[in-house]
Amino acid sequence: MSKKDLSSLELTDLTELMKQEGQPAFRAKQIFEWIHKRGVNTFSDMSNLSKELREKLEEKYSLANIKMVKKYVSKEDNTTKYLFDVGNDNIIESVLMSYEYGNSVCISSQVGCRMGCKFCASTIDGLERNLSAGEMLAQVYEIQKDIDVRISNIVIMGTGEPLDNYDNLLKFIKLINAKDGLNIGQRHITVSTCGIIEKIYDLVNEDLQITLALSLHAPNDDIRKQIVPTAKSNEIGDLLKAMKFYADKTKRRITIEYALIDGVNDSKDNALELTEKLKGIMCHVNLIPVNEIEERDYKRSNTERTNTFAEILKQYNLETTVRRKLGADINAACGQLRRSYKK
Ligand code: SAH
Repeated sequence: MSKKDLSSLELTDLTELMKQEGQPAFRAKQIFEWIHKRGVNTFSDMSNLSKELREKLEEKYSLANIKMVKKYVSKEDNTTKYLFDVGNDNIIESVLMSYEYGNSVCISSQVGCRMGCKFCASTIDGLERNLSAGEMLAQVYEIQKDIDVRISNIVIMGTGEPLDNYDNLLKFIKLINAKDGLNIGQRHITVSTCGIIEKIYDLVNEDLQITLALSLHAPNDDIRKQIVPTAKSNEIGDLLKAMKFYADKTKRRITIEYALIDGVNDSKDNALELTEKLKGIMCHVNLIPVNEIEERDYKRSNTERTNTFAEILKQYNLETTVRRKLGADINAACGQLRRSYKK
């Protein structure tokens, strides 16, 4: 039987568990801070616990353990990409991006992905397994230890579909937000989804303040079904209704992500159709000229088409930004680096 992982437990659950172990309540808080404030991943490092307790914990419990295997620093911008081994040679990737307003970490939520988006490298070998909340947190903690500056923003936009690992995602959000942990505000957390309608409604009920980003990538179902297979059971009308519901209920502006692919979804008509679809929704549109991956022949939309597309959205009062490539020299696009390392 596998040992119970303490790094995925909220403080209340850890307190309950330590109580059962005959420990006073403050013991749970000490352990919690070691894990979530100091990023310690072995019991033996928890130096304010007795040796006897450390040995007992070691015997009965585990801690998420991920090991940095590679680090790539972009020469073009302030992007650093990390590869972590999560056991059994499973590699995940995380990205650190430094901006004027702070440091943002993009984490993976699964090893691989089963959503099948046609332009995405993460999904080519399918899903290997979910990451635990502790393993999602550990990506942030390891990077924090590596750079020794405060991380202020989290985006869950690396490999995997976060809403396909829903329970662990929620634990992650609560733990990264915990007062005795890194205490990163929910408004500084963005979850990106390819759009699983019933999970979006579930998320509304959690009453969170996180930003929800939808990977829309198309103005209509015909195009979307060609590039995002989950579109077959999640039609745009229903999807945007769910996203609007999220925005209205939480009063949080949603993000619409749109990867521009040459000749597939980047025409003027596509832009006009998109403005129709987004009418009345409190949103920000993020246009991303698609990163070309070796295994697929989708081409990036050129600068002129990209700019025209953006201009049309702006004319219709949609707040729009074009995300230029970050870390292109280090294969920073979703899933690319992990693949090239595996090969
Ligand atoms: N599964 C989630 C989060 C991971 S993907 C989602 O679909 O949102 C994060 C974002 O990167 C998504 O918008 C995804 O569509 C986009 N993406 C993946 N591969 C890409 C590529 N080659 N070029 C541009 N964007 C890409």
